[in-house]
Amino acid sequence: MSILILAEHDGNHIKQSTRQAVSAAAAWQLPIHLLVAGSSSESLAKEASGIAGVAKVLHAEAAHFEHPLAEDVAALLVQLGADYKVILSAHTSFSKSVLPRVAALLDVAMVSDVVSITAPATYVRPIYAGNVLSTVESSDAIQVLTIRATSFAAATDGANAEVAKVNVPPSTGLSRWVKEDKTVSDRPELSSARVVVSGGRSLGERFNELLEPLAHRFGGALGATRAAVDAGFAPNDIQVGQTGTIVAPELYFAIGISGAMQHLAGMKDSKIIVAINHDPDAPIFQYADYGLVANLFEAVPELTAALSK
Ligand code: FAD
Repeated sequence: MSILILAEHDGNHIKQSTRQAVSAAAAWQLPIHLLVAGSSSESLAKEASGIAGVAKVLHAEAAHFEHPLAEDVAALLVQLGADYKVILSAHTSFSKSVLPRVAALLDVAMVSDVVSITAPATYVRPIYAGNVLSTVESSDAIQVLTIRATSFAAATDGANAEVAKVNVPPSTGLSRWVKEDKTVSDRPELSSARVVVSGGRSLGERFNELLEPLAHRFGGALGATRAAVDAGFAPNDIQVGQTGTIVAPELYFAIGISGAMQHLAGMKDSKIIVAINHDPDAPIFQYADYGLVANLFEAVPELTAALSK
């Protein structure tokens, strides 16, 4: 029996979170197969075959995978799944849509957001917005799980795995790709950035004006609270937290952020947290390594200017 990992990619490269899923899968000490579903995706399959720890790449090439949809990828995984002991992927928006469908179709439990694998079917996962860690054991014959990417190191290159083409079932026709609105940015991907500069709703319309130069100074990514996103000051895809992206960078700036538990759930594993807030009692200060009680509209430009010297 082997482990099957659903690889995620942006059409050009395999995502970092897939490399982290490969590291997580090493816990089973079983052969690891990586499923690459795409269109004109030979180079992706080749890249996947070089990831250390991967024994085999299953290459699913089909026109309808130019923009992979959850229903179609789930149908493919179900077709392949019976031969595997574990089906896993990173806990990303896409896999959170695919793997529960797979678990339901295979009639097994879905174990999501695993931060540690303590034995082959025993997992640690956060509950109550990260305030409690629960240990769960699954007795299903096929284990279906997503792992929290930031809890595992990324597998590097170093393999030369076999690439095997797989038969792809026709599109289910249950959903249709219409269009994608993407924020074009030369900044690193939020989930894997070394530095994240996040802001709350108090930044208002000046969100980008104040935070971009600071993020640029560190080559970091921008993040936001849900309140900032809901108010329309920041785009949805940079929301950090329980219902956004989970990050664990080396340095996290929380600027004008109160520190609600749903936000903390997405960033409290950051190595160093720097908070700027004019309220000395803001909960974020309980988690910050460095705290500055100040008006952000003065402190942020001063900090950016000082760092640029
Ligand atoms: P506020 O709580 O309004 O805080 C603003 C802060 O800015 C305050 O601390 C204030 O002192 C400070 N401030 C104001 N003006 C200045 C100034 N001039 N200088 C310095 N400081 C200033 N939230 C998330 O972030 N991510 C999630 O994924 C998420 N998921 C959620 C899921 C659910 C089911 C629910 C119910 C809520 C969720 N939330 C999430 C919302 C969360 O509960 C908070 O409402 C939100 O995080 C607050 O955002 P904020 O810190 O920007 O705003």
